[in-house]
Amino acid sequence: MSEVLVLIDAVDGKVSKPSLELLTIARAIGAPSAVVFGDADTATLSGYGAEKIYTYADQAFQDFLVAPKAEALAALIAEKSPAAVLVPSSAEGKEIAARAALKSGSGLITDAVEVAVDGGNITTTQSVFAGSYTVAAKVTKGAPVIAVKPNSVAPVEAAGAGAVEAVSFEVSDAAKGAKIVTSEPKAASGRPELAEAAIVVSGGRGTGGDFSEVEGLADALGAAVGASRAAVDSGWISHTFQVGQTGKTVSPQLYIAAGISGAIQHRAGMQTSKTIVAINKDEEAPLFELVDFGVVGDLKTVLPQATVEINKRKG
Ligand SMILES: Cc1cc2nc3c(=O)[nH]c(=O)nc-3n(C[C@H](O)[C@H](O)[C@H](O)COP(=O)(O)OP(=O)(O)OC[C@H]3O[C@@H](n4cnc5c(N)ncnc54)[C@H](O)[C@@H]3O)c2cc1C
Repeated sequence: MSEVLVLIDAVDGKVSKPSLELLTIARAIGAPSAVVFGDADTATLSGYGAEKIYTYADQAFQDFLVAPKAEALAALIAEKSPAAVLVPSSAEGKEIAARAALKSGSGLITDAVEVAVDGGNITTTQSVFAGSYTVAAKVTKGAPVIAVKPNSVAPVEAAGAGAVEAVSFEVSDAAKGAKIVTSEPKAASGRPELAEAAIVVSGGRGTGGDFSEVEGLADALGAAVGASRAAVDSGWISHTFQVGQTGKTVSPQLYIAAGISGAIQHRAGMQTSKTIVAINKDEEAPLFELVDFGVVGDLKTVLPQATVEINKRKG
């Protein structure tokens, strides 16, 4: 089976959920080889199907911004000629993907929501123009470098050989142009990361600035909290929670929007969610055109009722 390189994202050795999703996709199109800069739990990687695990220990990968990783990935692509290279479609992942693709003379596809093999070709699906078009694409030159959105598949465990191979790679001076000066971990909220969460509960202007009902439902569901730009611009919640064209793109299994009208710029960030639920007191709200389930009502009543019921059933 052809080798598929998978760029692994890990914090303090803990492999991110999007990386496990990539391994799951890689298994469907070939034999996954994990590419790890720094530290990642190898038992987890082999538990999700990694046949090989390439590790890079050089401190330069931690001390400098993306260029060293892109350089090393490009060299690995040249050496292995993989069937495909999968990276997480995060800001960092996409930058590494773009640089590695350019260095390798390969085609690049970003924000894929599906990767498949069709008649020997690797094809992708993207959702574009605020989700109003679905595009099928394939790379025609080099090893396809594909950045895949979080939550495109559910991670599935499957044992792989997990053969660890330490790669010694000398990072060039040219790749050491941007040094990381400080790095502070974000204060833990106890909630999942917005872009990776399987469930997102978002609030908009309709909250009137009080996000407690949105947070209450999010915590009952183990969900991340999101927001519309109107809520962010009003200073009710930090910009890091904004979903949409100028915020984060999310694609969870379940997206619940409360007091959000459904402007095109908000849709752009959540339209590929698998199931969409809206709570709005205006039955003409545009978001109702998009939803799987809609509740016409006051979020101040509906959200606490839903939270109580969910907690009761968890019970
Ligand atoms: C260049 C550009 C980029 C943008 N980027 C983004 C972006 O990334 N993300 C984003 O979200 N927006 C973005 N916007 C803004 C976007 O156009 C909308 O203005 C914004 O999404 C509206 O937010 P909202 O739905 O919370 O507010 P509104 O449109 O004011 O809607 C509030 C909704 O709450 C309902 N409501 C009120 N009270 C209640 C209640 N008690 N219970 C239930 N429902 C209630 C109302 O019926 C209404 O439908 C962008 C705009 C531009 C021009």
